[in-house]
Amino acid sequence: MGTENHLQLNVIFLPYLTPGHMNPMVDTARLFAKHGANVTIITTQTNALTIQKAIDSDFNSGYSIKTYVIQFPSLQLGLPDGVENIKDCTTPQMLEKIFHGIMMLQPQIESVFQELQPDCIVSDMFYPWTVESAAKLRIPRLYYYSASSFSSCVYHFIQKHKPHKGLESDSHKVQIPGLLDKIEIAPTEMDEFQRKENDMTILMNVVYASERRSYGTLCNSFYELEGGYEELYKNTIGIKSWSVGPVSAWINKTDEEKANRGNKVDLKEEPYWLNWLNSKQSDSVLYVSFGSLTRLSYAQIVEIAHGLENSGHNFIWVVRRKGEGDGEGEEECFLQDFEARMKESDKGCIIWNWAPQLLILDHPATGGIVTHCGWNSILESVSSGLPMITWPLFAEQFYNEKFLVQVLKIGVSVGAKVNKFWSTVGEDGIVGREELVKAVKTLMGSEESREMRKRAKKLGDAAKRTIEEGGTSYNNLMQLMDELKSLKMSRN
Ligand code: UDP
Repeated sequence: MGTENHLQLNVIFLPYLTPGHMNPMVDTARLFAKHGANVTIITTQTNALTIQKAIDSDFNSGYSIKTYVIQFPSLQLGLPDGVENIKDCTTPQMLEKIFHGIMMLQPQIESVFQELQPDCIVSDMFYPWTVESAAKLRIPRLYYYSASSFSSCVYHFIQKHKPHKGLESDSHKVQIPGLLDKIEIAPTEMDEFQRKENDMTILMNVVYASERRSYGTLCNSFYELEGGYEELYKNTIGIKSWSVGPVSAWINKTDEEKANRGNKVDLKEEPYWLNWLNSKQSDSVLYVSFGSLTRLSYAQIVEIAHGLENSGHNFIWVVRRKGEGDGEGEEECFLQDFEARMKESDKGCIIWNWAPQLLILDHPATGGIVTHCGWNSILESVSSGLPMITWPLFAEQFYNEKFLVQVLKIGVSVGAKVNKFWSTVGEDGIVGREELVKAVKTLMGSEESREMRKRAKKLGDAAKRTIEEGGTSYNNLMQLMDELKSLKMSRN
């Protein structure tokens, strides 16, 4: 055994302030601590509260892990107290302020780096300046990418080759060059900043430059799922990469851990939806969620409600209230009527605002998911061996859909066509109730879906194996930690 095996690594994790980035990074930080590292997660007060229970529990079990709380400038920005996460924004103006507030955190974060003198910084992709901080400290910076290697390759090849330039129409499909599979895409499905240059394009160019200057990439994925694309990614970007996922399944083992992950859900008094789920047959319920950020229009909500009802299948639907002033209005009345009707027919259940997703996906009654194709939701569904109805909305979600439907063949597309972030979603991108009924019937009842279900179960088994001792993700994490220790030794 080399001396480095006895060294303790000091690692700082810096997650971005949104659940889709925070959840996997906090899971990964906890894994580092469970394997001997001394871990600090830098975050703000309100965000710390959502993870504190898990961190305290790890700490009390003897692991060296803590949060380091910094101040979010809510007052300065005129944001309501406690709004420190992108998921809590209810207007585009609030969103602008949060983005600005996150940028203002840089001096505080840099002073924590100076104070703690870490051996490595694991930084979310959206803090590109941490490349300089790590260089000053002469330590490695890992670029944390909370999505797939496949989508990373798609982003890079679209940026490089701009295959959509010169197309006659925005809905005309074009092949994405450089990939291992033949994937076609319409410009309307591309991330908005790739379709048309905007402020985000400038930011993303800075992010990509920082990626190439990083020591390596840490990715929540696994080799058996997309090993070919991991290799392609490494060869394309020219840096190292470690896939250590699915981190959610690796670290959140108990029902309590699953329920509290990302937000606290009280299970003491068995909630209505859990009793309801317990009463249903295996694989008979569809879980419907559009992630932590999406705000659907009223017109779209009406179509989803009718589509679910008309499909005749059991469902649990997570509906986010839009914010201040909600609880009255046309939309609320419609949803309350719908909820009462579904309760009476025993066909469906609404969970308001936040669902303990890991718990629901792992429940034996859950047989599929309607997903907006956020990478975490995909990986969590894969871990539970579930096939999916794909309903991408924004960012890289359309790329993920292609991976699920065309490469892995575990997804049925609902037919969404327009890539738009929630604050700009209009009537043009609406998916009708008939399209949803068709997709639900295909996924939950057709011959075609039997094969899909088998493939999803097989991937679920692979997901379980890869995080066990000797599995690929397990070995990757161990190898990465050993490499970081060797680097620490060589600096001493
Ligand atoms: N999530 C959850 N309950 C909810 C909504 C989201 O637990 O009601 C979690 C989900 O399990 C996932 C994350 O929040 O870990 C959402 O990330 P994803 O990449 O799926 O989508 P995003 O929210 O970033 O669009």
